[in-house]
Amino acid sequence: MTIDTQKKAITLKNYVNGEWRTSTSVEIYDVINPATQEVIGHASYSTKEETEEAIQAAKEAFESGVWSQKTTHERSAILLAIAAKIDERAEELATLETLNNGKIKTEATYDIADAANCFRYYAGMILQPDGQTYHAPDNVQALIVKEPVGVAGLIVPWNFPLLMSVWKIAPALAAGNTIVFKPSEVTPMTAMKLFEILEEAGLPKGVANMVMGHGAIVGQTISESKHVDIVSFTGSTQVGREIMRAAAGNLKKISLELGGKSPNIIFADADFEAAVDYGLFGIFYGSGQVCSAGSRILVEETIYDAYVERFVERANQIKVGPGLDETSNMGAIVSEKQLNRILDYIEIGKNEGAKLVAGGKRLTENGLDQGFFIAPTVFADVTNDMRIVREEIFGPVVTIQKFATEQEAIRLANDSDYGLAGGVFSNDGAKALRVIKQIRAGITWVNDYHPTYVEAPWGGYKQSGIGRSLGTYGLEDFQEVKQINIRLNVEPNGWFPS
Ligand code: NAP
Ligand code: MG
Repeated sequence: MTIDTQKKAITLKNYVNGEWRTSTSVEIYDVINPATQEVIGHASYSTKEETEEAIQAAKEAFESGVWSQKTTHERSAILLAIAAKIDERAEELATLETLNNGKIKTEATYDIADAANCFRYYAGMILQPDGQTYHAPDNVQALIVKEPVGVAGLIVPWNFPLLMSVWKIAPALAAGNTIVFKPSEVTPMTAMKLFEILEEAGLPKGVANMVMGHGAIVGQTISESKHVDIVSFTGSTQVGREIMRAAAGNLKKISLELGGKSPNIIFADADFEAAVDYGLFGIFYGSGQVCSAGSRILVEETIYDAYVERFVERANQIKVGPGLDETSNMGAIVSEKQLNRILDYIEIGKNEGAKLVAGGKRLTENGLDQGFFIAPTVFADVTNDMRIVREEIFGPVVTIQKFATEQEAIRLANDSDYGLAGGVFSNDGAKALRVIKQIRAGITWVNDYHPTYVEAPWGGYKQSGIGRSLGTYGLEDFQEVKQINIRLNVEPNGWFPS
């Protein structure tokens, strides 16, 4: 199937048991480019029955051993072929991601390269010896081995459509599982391309299945199914709770990567310009639609006014526009629904008495009127009881608040239901380390914000999730652990009278 992304909308299909299937659902919807509202695809809200067929295909493929019983060399070779094909089509994939998600193409280009790296990383990891052995009492040689969990249900959001998919698909397949995958209904375009690549790379039929549609139907069916052995979900904390409830039925394993409201702490002794620069990058990268966004900047009181002034000056220079326009620094908001949610929060902030010092509105001038664009928005003089400080907005909206002491910075930073990420800026190395170690979050930076590496575990404390993606932890999420006890002297044990 070839896609002419710029000229005509394409029809998206499900991929089940090695076949591209047009959904039987009568509910068809438009996939749009959020920079223009141009229709770029037609997708279907697949039914519960179609989802169950995909689960059944994954179950049969798992039980057949067509994938789990391959040697790690064979699995690794296919994963490397997938990585190579992603690289070959990087330009096309980055363009499509930009068109569907609204992010600027530079960002999308990084996402695609990271996706290929993730496949390569797990292709290498499974070639390493793993497990443990020990000589137990009773002359038993014991082995501890890792095995695939079985059928993995994978559900992802719209903010990094391809990359979030790959963070799950690559380790799930590497470990020998079969999968049923659901992209976000808003951003299914690159997911479809990825499944074409999986097919071309020679993945056996039934191993990877994709069903497009509603979270409440397709997602719910996956998370409830007694034939699904693990559900790995990235998305909001609210839906994460529903997944956990649904997963209770057959006590399936869960892995949840959820929301955040992450603090970025700036001390007076930090490199001032770097702290402003990374403050901006922390919140406005991806238009703030990034789970680890540094959406709460905490600044030491002696530099607070100067920081806010410089930050606002810089925020106002950010050029917002379509992702394919090379002069744009920040792209569109993914959907009208998300746009309205962000605009609502801006109103809430004003009504709560926060001081709006930059942005605060939808942008419609200079050809932006058909798209979903919001100006980089900054609220100063906020307090920790305000909703805009407590709740995840998931847009280009940041709050900047003041602290007096190191203890106060830590207390404010940790006063949150979330614990995904956090940053500290200071030129006092001991202080920076002391503070970052006290931040209750899974992903943290010192004098930096945002970069993350496939080697490093990704996930949150508190209501930001359960489990970790990436690194060795990301593979372990998709593995069961088994002990095998082998008696070396085969003879009756004489426990019962003979
Ligand atoms: P969302 O509304 O939670 O949706 C995420 C996915 O779950 C979508 O595919 C959605 O389907 C599906 N879903 C919705 N209801 C469901 C249900 N009852 N059962 C099963 N699946 C269901 O999140 P979003 O709006 O797409 O993405 C933004 C959120 O993701 C933010 O909270 C952000 O922090 C979080 N996020 C976290 C990370 C991380 O690594 N921690 C990374 C990226 C994003 P639909 O297609 O119908 O919406
Ligand atoms: Mg949603």
